[in-house]
Amino acid sequence: MKFFIKTYGCQMNENDSEVARYYLEQEGYESAENENEADIVILNTCVVRKKAEDKFLSTIGELRKKNKKIGVMGCGAEKLKEDLFKRGVNFVIGTRAISRIPEAVELSIKGKKAAIFDDKLDEIDYRNILKRNSKHHAWITIIYGCNRFCTYCIVPYTRGREKSRKMEDILQEVKNLSLNGVREITYLGQNVDAYGKDLNDGTSLAKLLNETKNIENIERIWFLTSYPTDFSLDIAREIASSEKIAKSIHLPVQHGSNKILKKMNRRYTIEEYYELIKSIREIVPDASISSDIIVGFPDETEDDFQQTVKLVKEIKFERLNLAIYSPREGTIAWKYFEDNVPHAVKTRRMAYLLNLQKEVNKMLNESYLDKTVEVIVEERAKSGLFYGRDIRNKIIAFEGDESLIGKKILVKIKKTTAGPLYGDIIKII
Ligand code: SF4
Repeated sequence: MKFFIKTYGCQMNENDSEVARYYLEQEGYESAENENEADIVILNTCVVRKKAEDKFLSTIGELRKKNKKIGVMGCGAEKLKEDLFKRGVNFVIGTRAISRIPEAVELSIKGKKAAIFDDKLDEIDYRNILKRNSKHHAWITIIYGCNRFCTYCIVPYTRGREKSRKMEDILQEVKNLSLNGVREITYLGQNVDAYGKDLNDGTSLAKLLNETKNIENIERIWFLTSYPTDFSLDIAREIASSEKIAKSIHLPVQHGSNKILKKMNRRYTIEEYYELIKSIREIVPDASISSDIIVGFPDETEDDFQQTVKLVKEIKFERLNLAIYSPREGTIAWKYFEDNVPHAVKTRRMAYLLNLQKEVNKMLNESYLDKTVEVIVEERAKSGLFYGRDIRNKIIAFEGDESLIGKKILVKIKKTTAGPLYGDIIKII
């Protein structure tokens, strides 16, 4: 039987889908090119925002009409569990039970409804999971779960508490991948900076980066997502010490007002956040810092919002993910806070920030004009041009061909926009 996994949401879901595919292929199931060719369609879901949840729920309806066996994994499976059976789903599998996915598929083939959940994380041996969605890049989850309990966030409930993988296993996985052609890796965690803390043996993200940079054939190392009070300046020192570690730090701030940060349970003040950015920039002067911001959190006044505006103007993030607040069932904010900022106010504030950030991007990108940058080629874009990223996570587009994918090239920038940069290939390295 053929299966197809449709992935929504974050990069950790991307990695979980690769793991699920590995376990299914081990049991003889065949991976289909698309959902139409598949007998079984598995949705790896996200419920961080209402929009994401609505999207996968509507896909379930469409798949039912096509008479497919339907499985649900990811955060949506954890949140909705057996309720999904009422929508026609055949099996649900928890975020901590991915290795048991063949069992769920087998039961559903026999006509039974299967729901498999574990509280304890399953022991996945990633060292043999060498088939990834990309030939040259691999997502690598190094820490599961989150202990932070931001009041708006569902993740600690769907993914459980923080649990780090052993450093020697991760390094072995990277070595095996590098022998298989992988040149770029991204270390993942909901709070990646907390990596190692639960192991109580001195393991840390900084140490892992230090060891990884010595692995032959690995040319670029990324990590996502940072949390301000867990980010150690040793990580910044590691970035500064090697041209292999990307100078890109995704450090969500979420808001510019201390009142709202407290209500979000973010555990830092805006002054501490500014101080951290200043220290990072002292150690890595050309660090590219990106962030996430929520607009319209409960009790956000115009004055609170203006503090976010001030922050965006002053920090000048290289990239900003903006989201309008929507209460997620089961979170503290959903239980105790009134969603009291009118929708029209939320959308006005969002539009203002989007425009502001566009201006910031345009201005920052102009400094790239006529510069030559080192790019690792990713793939062909819909426009027909190829694209890749430089070490600061800038997306750069150029004329090319398939043979360049995975290679390092030098590109001279000839045009900048608020989005991608455009250039000509000078050299293939
Ligand atoms: S740090 Fe906060 S927002 Fe991020 S995953 Fe943990 S609880 Fe959610």
